[in-house]
Order: sequence, then structure tokens, then C-alpha cells
Amino acid sequence: MTRLILATRNAGKITELRAILADAGLPHELVGADAYPEIPDVKETGVTFAENALLKAHALAQATGLPAIADDSGLCVDVMNGAPGIFSARWAGRHGDDKANLDLLLAQIADIAEEHRAAHFACAAALALPDGTERVVEGQLRGTLRHGPAGTNGFGYDPILQPDGDTRTCAELTADEKNAISHRGKAFRALVPVMRELLG
Ligand code: IMP
Repeated sequence: MTRLILATRNAGKITELRAILADAGLPHELVGADAYPEIPDVKETGVTFAENALLKAHALAQATGLPAIADDSGLCVDVMNGAPGIFSARWAGRHGDDKANLDLLLAQIADIAEEHRAAHFACAAALALPDGTERVVEGQLRGTLRHGPAGTNGFGYDPILQPDGDTRTCAELTADEKNAISHRGKAFRALVPVMRELLG
């Protein structure tokens, strides 16, 4: 059985990818970056989600000698030409301040009418092997931005994105409902044939 490492310390992401591997019948053992605490986090110096995902996957594959998977994601707002994009986690200045990020974004687009409030979550998922082989795939969740937050599930911008075809925000969906349609779920599922090809 091949051991695979996922570049995250987020238990939810590990559980989500493990379930996708199991559904696809892939026998690989997936561990998180916590299994190798001595390996430092990589600086996300790329200018696209794909570049950042590849940077993280290559660094981890080199450091561990294992095939490594990494993802990078964010919110892209049409009327803002794709911003916050790779700056989603630190849009208001402080990394990971979800409420400040969301409040700033809502204020910035407060005057924008319904028909111009389209946005999507985007995720790039990369697989890198210790020999330098790399692949990257992407997934999107498209929707519309609300004028105010609703719902308490999820994280980040979930309370303000209403997926197309739904009347609820992402923060009003259950974890299973969100995983079924999410950008990350789509990107991870798109990695399955890539893993079959490169890992057997
Ligand atoms: P990461 O690449 O998964 O760390 O995500 C970067 C940032 O993008 C997060 O801090 C959130 O602000 C935003 N983001 C990414 N995915 C989601 C999501 O599924 N829901 C809400 N916000 C998200």
C-alpha cells in the first residue's frame, strides 16, 4: 500500500480526502502533515492557486520521500476581477481573521446589484512525486454573494456565498451537502484518475 501525505493540519480535509479515496476504491494510506511535525510549513509565494498547491506538494514530497497532495483555495468575485483570490485568507490584513475578511468584502461590494454579485470558490489540488513528477487539477463552486451573512456551519466566506440552484448559503449546508458540491471536493475527486495513473 502506498503511503500518501496531504499538506494540511486540518483534520476535516484529511477526513474528506480519505472518504474520496475509499469511495474510489484506492487503497492508499493517507496521512496529514502532522505525521511529520519536524517539516516546516512552506511559504505560499505563488501567484495562482495552482502554483501554491504545487509549491506545497513538491516541498512535502521532497522532505518525506512520499507522494504528496496539497490544495490551495479561495473566493473569487467576478466584479472584483477574481479578488480576493489567493489573498482570501488575509484580505483584511490579518491571516485567518474570517469575520474581518468577510465584513470587508461585504462593505466593498455593498452597492453592487444582485445580477452582478456572482462569485465562486476555487480550489487547485496538486499531486507531486519525490522524482519531481507533478499534476494539478482544479474545481469550482459557483454562486452569488448575499448582502449579509447567514448560517453558522463551515468557515471563511461560507456565510455569504449562496451556491447556484440553492436558497441557502454554504454555512447553512451540512458538511456532507457542502462536500458533495464544493470546489475542494471536485478538485480532490478530479485527482482520483491522476492517482490511478501515477500511483497505480
Ligand atoms: P485554504 O487554501 O483552504 O487555506 O483557504 C484559503 C482561504 O480561502 C480561507 O481562509 C477562506 O477565507 C477561503 N476559503 C477557501 N475555501 C473556502 C470554503 O470552502 N468556504 C469558505 N471560505 C473558503
